[in-house]
Amino acid sequence: MTKLFNTIIVGPIHSRRLGSSLGINLLPQYGKLCNFDCIYCECGWNADGRSDTKIPSVEQVESALEHRLKELVAEGLKVDSITYSGNGEPTLHPQFSEIVDVTVKLRNRYSPNAVISLLSNATRIEKPKIKEALKKIDNPILKIDSPIESYFKLLNNPSKGISLEKIITALADLKGHFILQTMFLKGFIEKDGEQIPIDCTEKENVAAWQSLVRDLSPKSVMMYSIDRETPAKELSKVSVEQMREIAAPLVQEGFDINIAG
Ligand code: SF4
Repeated sequence: MTKLFNTIIVGPIHSRRLGSSLGINLLPQYGKLCNFDCIYCECGWNADGRSDTKIPSVEQVESALEHRLKELVAEGLKVDSITYSGNGEPTLHPQFSEIVDVTVKLRNRYSPNAVISLLSNATRIEKPKIKEALKKIDNPILKIDSPIESYFKLLNNPSKGISLEKIITALADLKGHFILQTMFLKGFIEKDGEQIPIDCTEKENVAAWQSLVRDLSPKSVMMYSIDRETPAKELSKVSVEQMREIAAPLVQEGFDINIAG
């Protein structure tokens, strides 16, 4: 069973990295909307979620967020992070930047110590409005699973016209003001009736990823592996120990790397 958020506001749920995290789903409540179709996506394949394409308005997000924040204040519950995540890519919402402004206003009013976080595939961060909005987000957590084109295509299934090179250039423009998130997995992917092997721990991929981390110099790095059922069925986890080995030279060089198994 894949997991969809069936509301605009979710939680707070406990996250190892973000603490008590209140999720905001800017995407359809009963479907998925993304310009990637990652083989490991917890929301399932894009094709499985096309029946619901309705996204919430700025007013609906504002009202749902205010309502939940008021409840949490009344219950004396603390929120560490207000996090855009949900059923797809949050920056695809056409009013993303207006929603960020509303979130900042409500955060300041009800939960001033909470940070605002974004989980994004970084495909739209070069757009001027998104770039501006990113400056108001404390924790932009941006994904690159591999800087190698063939891995990128296999892992992320990007929509037509999305360029890995452009994503990397846009990330470099952030001058390290973001958290890099990378998935490590192994297994087989079925394409056109063929079983294609993939292994993110292969030497070539690891070396390219380590160079990318050095070049982008993000404020921290999150390495993780699959945790739940994935839409591609023949995938397996990379162990925490293996990810530690991959991270070791970077840790020695002073990078802040967090690993979740
Ligand atoms: S970018 Fe995120 S939401 Fe989109 S397909 Fe990949 S894992 Fe799913």
